[in-house]
Amino acid sequence: MIELPEAYVLSEQIKKTLTGKVIKSVTANAHPHGFAWYTGDPALYNMILSGKKITGAVAYGGRPEIWAEEMRISFCDGVRALYLESGEKRPDKHQLLVEFDDGTGMSCSVQMYGGIFAFENGSKDDWYYNVAIEKPSPYTEAFDESYFEGLRKGVKQNLSVKAFLATEQRIPGFGNGVLHDTLFNARIHPKRKLETLTDSDFESIFNSIKSTLIKMRDGGGRDTEKDLFGKSGGYRTVLSSKTLSQPCLSCGGGLIRQAYLGGNIYFCPVCQPLLK
Ligand SMILES: [Zn+2]
Repeated sequence: MIELPEAYVLSEQIKKTLTGKVIKSVTANAHPHGFAWYTGDPALYNMILSGKKITGAVAYGGRPEIWAEEMRISFCDGVRALYLESGEKRPDKHQLLVEFDDGTGMSCSVQMYGGIFAFENGSKDDWYYNVAIEKPSPYTEAFDESYFEGLRKGVKQNLSVKAFLATEQRIPGFGNGVLHDTLFNARIHPKRKLETLTDSDFESIFNSIKSTLIKMRDGGGRDTEKDLFGKSGGYRTVLSSKTLSQPCLSCGGGLIRQAYLGGNIYFCPVCQPLLK
């Protein structure tokens, strides 16, 4: 899933690789996927996007967004975007294929679920998109300790740390992927209730959100995700399906995976005790 670091990495790669290219044709929904979302009718994507020049790209939360003059192509969640060289074979299945005037292209395929939205700038008005734009990203200075304290005060204290950080779009783009290493670095169990945490625990979580996300971004995204060129990210996850069978990097003990709140959580029961 694309989360904050991957959205940043993808948008930078798109900006460097695609800016200046002109869209020759667009094929959307060629291989219908039950959990692929579009803006309106995907059959119209070719009409609204062809002839537009790529003018840049940005990331809003966990959403990379391509700018093509006044048009926008935004994608999220389980969308895998892949750059295609001129003459390179196009993927057999895709939910979006953009061909450029110089023979290169970009395909998007949806993994479990994901959105591929095309729309005129300013015309998209849905809650998920709006909060991704409006809420401060942990990569900005606006996401500071007092902002984080405000988030803490705004919720019921019987919420777990995972529910607090990774649900309800409280921090857009911060999902169940980046959660594990963030909490490992803060030495906090994902099921801890907020009411059991001290001010110092919250400070550790805040500091870890900042530093862990920066490491993930600067490493080129997590190693469980792919970039625009099909390459795995260079950030080595401490807690993920890739490392589950390995000993904890800190104490050498066994790691645990548990289903919890719509996704698996990974933790070390020694370094991140449930009760203090
Ligand atoms: Zn440990």
